[in-house]
Amino acid sequence: MPEGHTIHRYARQHRRLLRGRTVAASSPQGRFVAGATLLNGLVLEDVEPYGKHLFYRWSDGLVLHVHLGLYGAFRQFDGEPPPPTPGTRLQLVAGNTTLRLAGPTACDLVDPDQEALIRARLGPDPLRRDADVDAVRAALARRSTPVGAALLDQRVVAGIGNVFRCEALFDCGIHPDRPARSLAPGEFDCLWGRLNAMLRHGARTGRIITVDPTELGISRRAMRPDDWRYVYRRTDLPCRRCASPIRSWTLGARTIYACPLCQPER
Ligand SMILES: [Zn+2]
Repeated sequence: MPEGHTIHRYARQHRRLLRGRTVAASSPQGRFVAGATLLNGLVLEDVEPYGKHLFYRWSDGLVLHVHLGLYGAFRQFDGEPPPPTPGTRLQLVAGNTTLRLAGPTACDLVDPDQEALIRARLGPDPLRRDADVDAVRAALARRSTPVGAALLDQRVVAGIGNVFRCEALFDCGIHPDRPARSLAPGEFDCLWGRLNAMLRHGARTGRIITVDPTELGISRRAMRPDDWRYVYRRTDLPCRRCASPIRSWTLGARTIYACPLCQPER
């Protein structure tokens, strides 16, 4: 599933390509024909990312809400595009630029009440300037659920996916099964700092590289994809810090990865 940094990258890219332009909208797949017909010929005014959600604002006040879910993705074409794939829900064209959206969980026009409802269910998004760190701290302090599950709860913090939760918990030495409310102030600060840094690096580069290359004794340029994560998808491989075999289990409906020594259960 795309994490928040991918959503922010899409927003930036789509703003750059389409903002202020008159857009031809269609639904090659046919599942969004009514919505695309309403959008067709409007000017895109802005694209706002929030957690894993995107809001496209149009010249007559319409708002398009997109959530990519597990399988959704955008593709961009410059010049003559190939024929759309059968799953292309939405196509947006301005001049030479074509954007196509396939496989989203949500692609709907929303009225102000519906948008407010979506936003009310989202916790702060660390990539937004208005992110309220105290609200995240308070939400975790209220929960007895495992911190590893709470981090995936978009009502607690928006935009965190499985890779970021695994890597940030490892880097801060926090066992994923510990109750969210058991975090010491310093542990929360570490977690928030790491999540912020990882998301920002991801939004800048489009990659999730969480390992500090100096820990591997190599340069950043020498890193290969196998070097990018501390624990994610490294079951039974040696921990990069203590050589213990990395463990994995299911937590919050996704597979969590952790080091039994670096992240003590207490
Ligand atoms: Zn370890």
